[in-house]
Amino acid sequence: MSKLKIAIQKSGRLSEKSLELLKNCGIKLSNDDRKLKTEAQNFPIEVLFLRDDDIPQYVEQGVADIGILGENEVWEKEKNVQMVEKLGFASCKLSLAIPKDEDYPGLLYFNNKKVATSYPKILKKYFNEKNIKAEIEEIGGSVEIAPGIGLANAIFDIVSTGSTLLMNGLKEVHVVTKSTAVLIANKNLNQENGQILEKLLFRIKAVRTASENKYILLNAPAGAIPQISSILPGMKAPTVLPLAAEGWVSIHSVVKEDEFWEVIDQLKTVGAQGILVVPIEKMVL
Ligand code: ATP
Ligand code: MG
Repeated sequence: MSKLKIAIQKSGRLSEKSLELLKNCGIKLSNDDRKLKTEAQNFPIEVLFLRDDDIPQYVEQGVADIGILGENEVWEKEKNVQMVEKLGFASCKLSLAIPKDEDYPGLLYFNNKKVATSYPKILKKYFNEKNIKAEIEEIGGSVEIAPGIGLANAIFDIVSTGSTLLMNGLKEVHVVTKSTAVLIANKNLNQENGQILEKLLFRIKAVRTASENKYILLNAPAGAIPQISSILPGMKAPTVLPLAAEGWVSIHSVVKEDEFWEVIDQLKTVGAQGILVVPIEKMVL
């Protein structure tokens, strides 16, 4: 039987999350000691452990059928692969930063400046769009030290909290784009592998939907059911169960993680009490 080969990062910021995603999809790996590759025991998939830079090329060539990596690497490598699904972890910004004591008049600052980066293609495209004429200096890593040692005037790099910039006397002045982990696929998957991918995607979506939602239980006077139902629409409608106390009910529903505090405030004003919110493990709509 055919196996779908998935490439994930061998070690780095994406590795743990990628393995966790497979695990949450119910996929058990024979071993995850990250040799070159390993097979799943209960799903037709084989995992290849690679450097993230190499994943787009391997997926384009079909050495791997699919891969998990940051969008930033996919954009930079410009390989012919398809983006299949955003995975929602490893979110970061790709930003321009300059020495912290310099004034920043806007993007024009970068005209005739030298900018060090590991993402020359993304930056070149952006500067072209904005009509900025800068010199781009490609370097492999530790980009943030480039201005300090006189290699460049500014940098373009991944920023999450900005503390690395600060330590190097730099400040973030412009966010060029935002990136998050994605699943990419070879454009010519055979039918069997296409079907395995569909199955995997179904599970990935269920895991994501679950993580974005919470299960909510509360007690309320029976008279408040219509109001509570409109605050908590649930998947179809909330579940309403009688309580042993006369005139009271228990209401169960699902609420979106990012609406959750707002919803709780509204529920309290219509008389809800004893509100419990619990995580959902998997959710299929
Ligand atoms: P490799 O050895 O595999 O080439 P790497 O050093 O290129 O690893 P990492 O630093 O592990 O890569 O980052 C992998 C990806 O994680 C990045 O391409 C980016 O998408 C994302 N990422 C990087 N830094 C951050 C951060 N500070 N916060 C969130 N996500 C990040
Ligand atoms: Mg890399």
